[in-house]
Amino acid sequence: CAVFGIHGHPDAAAHAALGLHALQHRGQEASGIVTFDGQRFNAHRELGLVGDIFSSEAVMSRLVGHAAIGHNRYSTTGDTLLRNVQPLFADLSLGGFALAHNGNLTNATTLRRELVTRGAIFQSTSDTEVFIHLIATSAGSNLIDRMLGALALVEGAYSLVAMTDDAVIGVRDPLGVRPLVLGRLGDAWLFASETCAFDIMGAEFVRDVDPGEMVVLGQGEPRSIRVTSGNRQRFCVFEYIYFARPDSVIEGTSVYEARKAIGRELARESLPEADLVVPVPDSGVPAALGFAEESKLPFDLGIIRNHYVGRTFIEPGQEIRNLGVKLKHNANRPMLEGKRVVLVDDSIVRGTTSRKIVQMVRATGATEVHMRIASPPITDPCFYGVDTPERGQLLAAQMSVEEIARHLDVDSLAFISMDGLYRAMGRPGRDSGQPAFCDACFTGDYPTRLTDRENPNSPQ
Ligand code: 5GP
Ligand code: SF4
Ligand code: MG
Repeated sequence: CAVFGIHGHPDAAAHAALGLHALQHRGQEASGIVTFDGQRFNAHRELGLVGDIFSSEAVMSRLVGHAAIGHNRYSTTGDTLLRNVQPLFADLSLGGFALAHNGNLTNATTLRRELVTRGAIFQSTSDTEVFIHLIATSAGSNLIDRMLGALALVEGAYSLVAMTDDAVIGVRDPLGVRPLVLGRLGDAWLFASETCAFDIMGAEFVRDVDPGEMVVLGQGEPRSIRVTSGNRQRFCVFEYIYFARPDSVIEGTSVYEARKAIGRELARESLPEADLVVPVPDSGVPAALGFAEESKLPFDLGIIRNHYVGRTFIEPGQEIRNLGVKLKHNANRPMLEGKRVVLVDDSIVRGTTSRKIVQMVRATGATEVHMRIASPPITDPCFYGVDTPERGQLLAAQMSVEEIARHLDVDSLAFISMDGLYRAMGRPGRDSGQPAFCDACFTGDYPTRLTDRENPNSPQ
């Protein structure tokens, strides 16, 4: 998902819509904006794309206010229902409270059951509503203290942007698994999941919100509150590999540069004899550029992507996914015919895309197909807000690398090693005992408790 917040701009909603548009890659299922105009909260939420929802004059004219928060939804928990679309809003005893959440709580089901036992009535099936109930029932004389009370009870990954009648509040979980950045536009202050949301409106990037930090935008300069001490940091390495936009900078590292560096490292680790490096567009492009640079092999766009098809992975249902990949990619015959091709992609999840693409490249007359993947094999599900499927559907959880190579019908297959990945990111490897990243979908080493999962009565 994507979150956005702005405080101190007369046209907050228009900027929220722009920011959410730049963050569309983080979720295409639904979008919402809540504004505060000094008197009232105004909200609009809808299933669909930002550009379609917030281009309506009727919708935008109602979203008045100097403060706004927004959200793009990519469903990980909860169904595709309008009542699950964020930002959530509640009239609490201390005033209105709106909340947008990127990430996933790992004890939401457990907390929810406790809250329901105490009489809470839930309106949605999303884990984010747990926050609202925890805040509503927390002690504390103001909403910020109540938020701190609620935060002490949740586990998992969360970048939050919240709004009260006098502040816009950003929070990152203790390990900083999901991203959140602070920006400035004239007198206004902003939060966004990624810096590309600041670029679109000419706002200035100020800094990343720290893991375990709350930043309050109200009168004057932003106020920083430490929610948790500790300086362990476990940012999601998959954001660098796939999820974030390549033109974003996270924790001081350009996502594009990171992807290229991973591609270079991959070429150093396993370079086949070949004539040509071809990216699987679009997500494989930066890694393929790095691979070509390091290997000195020519680089060509041997596969062309149709940009008018959404991300195949996100469309629900295997049949649509199967159809989606045919709609989305076509082989560029003159580039591929008679060539030994290295196909570079960022990751293999179910293997559906990869299999079809290999078939297509072979059918076009490539003599050999070597696949190189800019991430280690994905063996475990993500419980922190990225929609990796169950283990049963993860190809690398079911098969060895050799079996995957056979399944995909490639002449050779290699994934970047875990050490290679950390090396490419310029960080000490896992054997340092202090990995800088969450890499649980590749290692099964989850950096937080997984309370819901440990408790057999509350499957996630
Ligand atoms: P597969 O071949 O496993 O079916 O799909 C792999 C492709 O899916 C890769 O090109 C990768 O870019 C993309 N992908 C990997 N993880 C995700 C994800 O979490 N969401 C979406 N939308 N696409 C993903
Ligand atoms: Fe990111 Fe994987 Fe960790 Fe999920 S499990 S937060 S996708 S590194
Ligand atoms: Mg891809």
